[in-house]
Amino acid sequence: MTSDDSLHNHPAIMWFRSDLRTDDNAALHAASLHTSVLPVFIRDTANGERETGGAHDWWLHHSLERLQENMDRLGAPLVLLSGNPEELIPQLVKSSCASAVYWNRRYDPAFQSLDSRIKKDLQSDGIEVESFAGQLLHEPTKVRTSGDTYYKVYSPFWRAIEDTVEDRQPAPAPEKFNPVDTLPESEKLEDWNLLPTKPDWAGGLRETWTPGEKGAHERLEEFLSGAINGYANDRDLPGVESTSRLSPHLAHGEITPAQIIQALAESDTDASSKDRTVFRKEIGWREFSYHLLVNEPELPQVNHNSRFDDFPWNEDDEGLAAWQKGMTGYPIVDAGMRELWRTGWMHNRVRMVTASFLTKHLMIDWRHGERWFWDTLVDADPASNTASWQWVAGSGADAAPYFRIFNPIIQGEKFDPDGDYVRLNVPELAEMPSKYIHKPWDAPEDVLSKAGVRLGDTYPHPIVDHQKARQRALDAYDKIKDAA
Ligand code: FAD
Repeated sequence: MTSDDSLHNHPAIMWFRSDLRTDDNAALHAASLHTSVLPVFIRDTANGERETGGAHDWWLHHSLERLQENMDRLGAPLVLLSGNPEELIPQLVKSSCASAVYWNRRYDPAFQSLDSRIKKDLQSDGIEVESFAGQLLHEPTKVRTSGDTYYKVYSPFWRAIEDTVEDRQPAPAPEKFNPVDTLPESEKLEDWNLLPTKPDWAGGLRETWTPGEKGAHERLEEFLSGAINGYANDRDLPGVESTSRLSPHLAHGEITPAQIIQALAESDTDASSKDRTVFRKEIGWREFSYHLLVNEPELPQVNHNSRFDDFPWNEDDEGLAAWQKGMTGYPIVDAGMRELWRTGWMHNRVRMVTASFLTKHLMIDWRHGERWFWDTLVDADPASNTASWQWVAGSGADAAPYFRIFNPIIQGEKFDPDGDYVRLNVPELAEMPSKYIHKPWDAPEDVLSKAGVRLGDTYPHPIVDHQKARQRALDAYDKIKDAA
């Protein structure tokens, strides 16, 4: 292909991956300049990537349904295929006589070499291949310290990108496409079995979420006309809808950080400049997580701080199971773990408390917790999940110092003072007075009995004693803290 004309007179393939949207989709926009477009989503069954979790798959099913509707409306039906993209993409190029393949960059190192291989092979056959930015506000390899390294501490990283976060302008929305002459046969979404059936555990997810691009923008609007006002103070209160809950939409690329930042800048909310700044900084944590992951591709498996390689983690299947089920006897921990199971999401403050409990009170390796979150979160994200787990465990970049061990009673009393969050998620404690809801074991017998609570029967005794568990973790840390 020599000139732009001959390039655009042929069809383009739009390869959707973790960018399940039509607006602010630079790759789709590039494809729309062609005479016709063949949009495809491939369920990769060949490249040994990390298996996605059940909650992610539930979301993916619904998000793909919405994308199918949008692409039908725009005139180019989405083709679903399973197999190896390395084989399928060249086959599609051939069968459709496409001159170009476009995609948006994904930053998970698991896909880096696959994407480069496909790009190289197609280019050597004279096919135009272009990948676009969009998932992030910055390119993780391009932000560098003055010493020409990547950032390992959040604050200077944020300072380095803060003034440019509004620079990335969303791509224009496409209007209408022509489909390719002969459409390859698409697989049926239902046949991919992404939804749980026996048992159907997704009732709480259905009640809580509206996957898809429209749902993402409605949620953003709702947030900007409500909870952004007061966000800086309230974002730590799990019993109040005080955060955006945009994370699963971001994880599936139904909305971009650039769209969020732009909507915030243009919004006529009364939110203070502090509310706006704190929210932008949270989006910055997502950027920082990707910055770390891209520069440390082994982050999902390997301690950022190698001192933790010698940490004496416990093999404690019983403790792990109690934590997963929300049966540790610590109400704020159990409320978080049950919110996660019911809705596929957990409030950030409680993610920190539950992760701290697992890694410090139970001294269970953060990788077990990361795996459970990966399987159960609708927003499971390779960068944010890994970086956050390591951050809480103490092994991560810019991590919370190990000796700062969250006290689950104080955390509950401080951030859920009336116990609303616990009452919602741990119904067997619903009648407990606020004074005891975060420490039912301290309640007099008549108070427990009035609330219908029988410790050890209707609700568990704490599986570890806070003070003893804290001391045990500190002693273990003492043994590794001076290691090289
Ligand atoms: P808001 O407060 O409205 O923030 C807006 C956006 O900023 C979020 O949607 C998210 O994209 C980003 N953000 C906010 N806080 C963080 C943070 N600490 N780190 C990175 N990005 C952030 N987030 C995920 O998206 N996927 C994960 O798999 C994930 N795993 C986590 C595991 C642990 C142990 C912890 C402590 C945190 C994890 N987080 C993860 C980060 C954070 O808890 C969620 O992003 C946040 O709770 C999402 O809710 P929200 O959209 O209402 O956030």
